[in-house]
Amino acid sequence: MRKLFITTIALLAIILNACSGDSSSSSSSIEETEGVSVTAVVQEYFKDANGVTVSVDEEAGVITITSSTGLPDHKTPYYDVYEKQHELYEDFPTYYVTDGILENFYIDQIADRIFSYDEDGNYIITYAANDNDEIGAIKYVMEIPTNPTEAAIKEETDLAAIGMVLNGVPFFNNYNQSSVPLGGADVSTLDSAGGHPGALADYHYHVGANPGIYADENPEIEYGTLIDENQLVGFMRDGFPLYGQQDQDGEYPDDLDEYGGHFGVTEHFPDGIYHYHASTEDYLDAGWYVLKSGKYYGTPGTFTSN
Ligand SMILES: [Zn+2]
Ligand SMILES: [Zn+2]
Repeated sequence: MRKLFITTIALLAIILNACSGDSSSSSSSIEETEGVSVTAVVQEYFKDANGVTVSVDEEAGVITITSSTGLPDHKTPYYDVYEKQHELYEDFPTYYVTDGILENFYIDQIADRIFSYDEDGNYIITYAANDNDEIGAIKYVMEIPTNPTEAAIKEETDLAAIGMVLNGVPFFNNYNQSSVPLGGADVSTLDSAGGHPGALADYHYHVGANPGIYADENPEIEYGTLIDENQLVGFMRDGFPLYGQQDQDGEYPDDLDEYGGHFGVTEHFPDGIYHYHASTEDYLDAGWYVLKSGKYYGTPGTFTSN
């Protein structure tokens, strides 16, 4: 009798085990509880040509993305701002300000920013380097979940790298390193790609490239972050992808949540995934569009430099 009792308990334990094993690995609830895997897309689209490598620990559910230099693979004045000799050097953009535009922008300008007038009396602002005038190679390591999920408690994005563009360059939110929103003085140091260096010579983007607004004839897609498209820009630290302003169908989504994202089909995730979109709000009326501000939708992984 006693032996039978023990056997029954053992059997029950096996059944219970089998059940709990089932519920964590089976069928329909997988996407809701575990999230869609981003592994294949991360492996395929980060640019190893620019020194970015990807390694995956499926067991731990972690993808490690290593950017060997963090340097842009496109032209920027910061490659050689004074001598202008580097093969990837190009001038800062020039912004022609017509009447009534940029009110928010030039109110906040600092005195040494370069202004002039064209023959029609319009302001011309030539962007220029400020205190931070050079970029250096920095190795970055970003860890993201293989299957990102919504966080129970949403965290504010960091005042540092909040994600990585496919070329291995970090991107920041719309705050500067003094913890205040970017003003005209900050914005007028951006290059045509929407990037500039920080105090550690750490090149990073705040906004999407939008060379079309400038007088210079700039090639489009070469800047890595051109956002007036449905392109995959990069991945946030929480593992969710960041797209340009448009969805796959070329439409501007009208159902974005307070984190700037929504669940839907993309070119790279045909079964749908939660993804962010770059902002469509003209930042400071300066013609720039912030890549991502506010809180993370998921739980951010680590982003370290050395
Ligand atoms: Zn910055
Ligand atoms: Zn979308």
